[in-house]
Amino acid sequence: MSNTPSESTETALVTGASRGIGRAIAMALAASNRFVYLNYHSNHKIAQQTLDQIKEQGGDGALLPFDVTDKNAAEDAVKKIISERKTLEILVNNAGIRDDMLMVWMKEENWQQVLNTNLTGFFNVTRLVVKKMLPKRYGRIINISSTSGQLGQPGQVNYSASKAGLIGATKALAKEIAKRNITVNAVAPGFIETEMVEGLPLEQIAQSIPAGRLGQPQEVADAVLFLCSQKASYITGQVLGINGGIC
Ligand code: NDP
Repeated sequence: MSNTPSESTETALVTGASRGIGRAIAMALAASNRFVYLNYHSNHKIAQQTLDQIKEQGGDGALLPFDVTDKNAAEDAVKKIISERKTLEILVNNAGIRDDMLMVWMKEENWQQVLNTNLTGFFNVTRLVVKKMLPKRYGRIINISSTSGQLGQPGQVNYSASKAGLIGATKALAKEIAKRNITVNAVAPGFIETEMVEGLPLEQIAQSIPAGRLGQPQEVADAVLFLCSQKASYITGQVLGINGGIC
């Protein structure tokens, strides 16, 4: 007997869903009838606007603010989802920050904060979610890595390390739980137009991208939506570049 749920009854958690790429992913999942929990850190007004827009478009969801670096807060959040919805089929680990500088100037706190958010945040949330997915024998986990984690980017030793770490974790976890019908994949965006790239020389960057332009959050969301679908059931442990041809 299949354990595969109907997509329209699925519950999803997207971390860092108030704005940018996470917002586009949350909206895409809600538009395909999933109930979406929107996690964010502190930007309540923007998160509420995202949820309002989801509801205006006929979708449904709820705000779930917590700091992914806080393991107790992550535990409370996952418990809340399970008590309200009973299941959680989709987890998108998207919350992330950057704090760029050359390694020679980097202080321990610059290293630690980026690693804590981008990599330990993944661990804090995913460990608990996997425990809930295993007995259901179904799940989709998508980790938002980066081209920076695949290639290494000067000025981003902390960020590149965190995003490369996510790729290793994706591949290892995929192998641990593939038999339970839970897929774990990463997407690795290049330069995507969000607040995260504000202040960078975008025109110059666009010229270095084979496609000649930056990507849009929706273009990442479309790929994530596919990996969350039942059509992607035999894809696990993979890293999908969404980068206009950079690598
Ligand atoms: P934004 O800066 O636009 O949004 C970041 C999101 O993460 C916000 O929702 C923010 O919440 C949330 N967040 C940050 N820290 C925490 C935390 N400790 N706990 C919970 N939520 C947190 O980023 P992007 O949309 O650009 O990036 C999203 C992901 O994609 C990140 O992992 C990033 O590394 C990755 N990425 C981005 C690329 C780009 O070019 N934009 C390229 C490659 C990868 P709040 O609003 O409350 O602050």
